[in-house]
Amino acid sequence: ERVQVKRALLSVSDKTGLIEFATRLSKAGVELVSTGGTARSIAEAGLTVRDVSELTGFPEIMDGRVKTLHPGVHGGLLAIRDDAEHISAMEAHNIGAIDLAVINLYPFEEVRASGGDYATMVENIDIGGPAMIRAAAKNHAYVGIVTDPADYDRVADAIEADGGALGLGLRKELAALAYARTAAYDSAISGWFAEALALEAPRHRAFGGSLRDVMRYGENPHQSAAFYVDGNSRPGVATAELLQGKQLSYNNINDTDAAFELVSEFGGGRPACAIIKHANPCGVAVGDKLLDAYRQALRCDPVSAFGGIIAFNGELDGETAEEIVKLMTEVIIAPSVSDDARKVIAAKKNLRLLVTGALADPAAPGMAYKSVSGGLLVQSRDNGVITRDDLKVVTKRAPSEQEIEDLLFAFKVGKHVKSNAIVYVKDGATVGIGAGQMSRVDSARIAARKSQDAAEAAGEAGMLTKGSVVASDAFFPFADGLLSAVEAGATAVIQPGGSMRDAEVIAAADEAGIAMVFTGMRHFRH
Ligand code: 5GP
Repeated sequence: ERVQVKRALLSVSDKTGLIEFATRLSKAGVELVSTGGTARSIAEAGLTVRDVSELTGFPEIMDGRVKTLHPGVHGGLLAIRDDAEHISAMEAHNIGAIDLAVINLYPFEEVRASGGDYATMVENIDIGGPAMIRAAAKNHAYVGIVTDPADYDRVADAIEADGGALGLGLRKELAALAYARTAAYDSAISGWFAEALALEAPRHRAFGGSLRDVMRYGENPHQSAAFYVDGNSRPGVATAELLQGKQLSYNNINDTDAAFELVSEFGGGRPACAIIKHANPCGVAVGDKLLDAYRQALRCDPVSAFGGIIAFNGELDGETAEEIVKLMTEVIIAPSVSDDARKVIAAKKNLRLLVTGALADPAAPGMAYKSVSGGLLVQSRDNGVITRDDLKVVTKRAPSEQEIEDLLFAFKVGKHVKSNAIVYVKDGATVGIGAGQMSRVDSARIAARKSQDAAEAAGEAGMLTKGSVVASDAFFPFADGLLSAVEAGATAVIQPGGSMRDAEVIAAADEAGIAMVFTGMRHFRH
């Protein structure tokens, strides 16, 4: 069960912690063997190290593409130490056993993140490293494999504590980590390929993801959690910089993603603000100034906005920040933040502030993932964007200019509301949102009722939905949902159309004298 570590092979691109680890191994009596750059670093630190070409009897060739791909290395990693045939093969071919492999890979993910061109990316696909990692991990009965500098200390501790030996329990765990690493590495390569070639079919990419962060807990405190990223360059929560505040929690990440994806729908034109709770918007608005957009968004549902996530489509300014800090907020995300705003936010130590550098392109291709028990559902992301040219007027009355603007706004918001989604909008601001109900008519009623609450909170008479427009993420299966919108005071409706009872719904709209447009595109979001 114990393996006396007599020889270690070190081949690392990330040289973090290398010298300290190599020094401890050397002191523990371990012979060090290494590849070009790694060997140079170790030798420079004054340690004795053999070059891997001594094991292979072969120089590193082809700019390092082939350095360790040799039976002298792989035989030493894969040999079963107490198998007579393996032993005689080692003797016959002069292969020495390798007991510990310390390997990390060409920095494919980092180079991708910094925008490496095609040829650079291809050259950063490590071949020999993953081969050695997989060989050493397979043979964990005899070999230890270390793929992450974060594990150097505990491996060195274990070896020192056990007279130069490494126990089976740790070797097994390290092997599991090793395969997680090679799987993530290859999934990063496949993700890059799919993105580079604009291949949208999910089968073109394996999703394992690279570990970005380990959270304190998951959706609930008794669940563990980590954040894996697929390495695409899309601005958003996966690539944002945290300027202040505690680490983002699992729920923060989920909600912040929803907030930023939604606000990105509005592009860089008029200032826009989205306030999110539990991954659903509780207020979205555009305005002449960012502050107006924030105030209008907040007006939609000030009760739910408490403890929410706020996203902006432009630079967060000082006056808006002053207003935000009056209310309890978890996270702010924006493309950038002014110095004034930073100072204001700094007074709220726990408020997390994220900057993305840019907006996400709502029409860009990409993948969306969703977990089911035992697996992962993968689909291309919902990058459908409806414009005025897509709208088909189906009622006798056509919507006015202002109504068309609000209808398009409402449909954009509806795309980011859990189904069944009903969204009331007036003058560039949501005034009632019904989310996540099992029946569309319930969502419509809830949206109307919430708008009544908001009006009361604002001390305004009547419902905010009076004279509004309404969006539905999918068709109305019956006229009842539409009638409930009419009752709430909506004057125009936007919906995909395509129901068996479209004629009935259109007739009800005509009878009520409201305008209705079909988009031909559904935005379910479950
Ligand atoms: P060094 O800095 O020591 O010259 O190179 C270390 C890197 O080379 C490590 O990231 C390791 O995974 C990688 N590597 C080791 N052997 C081979 C090989 O045969 N082919 C390729 N392409 N990479 C290798």
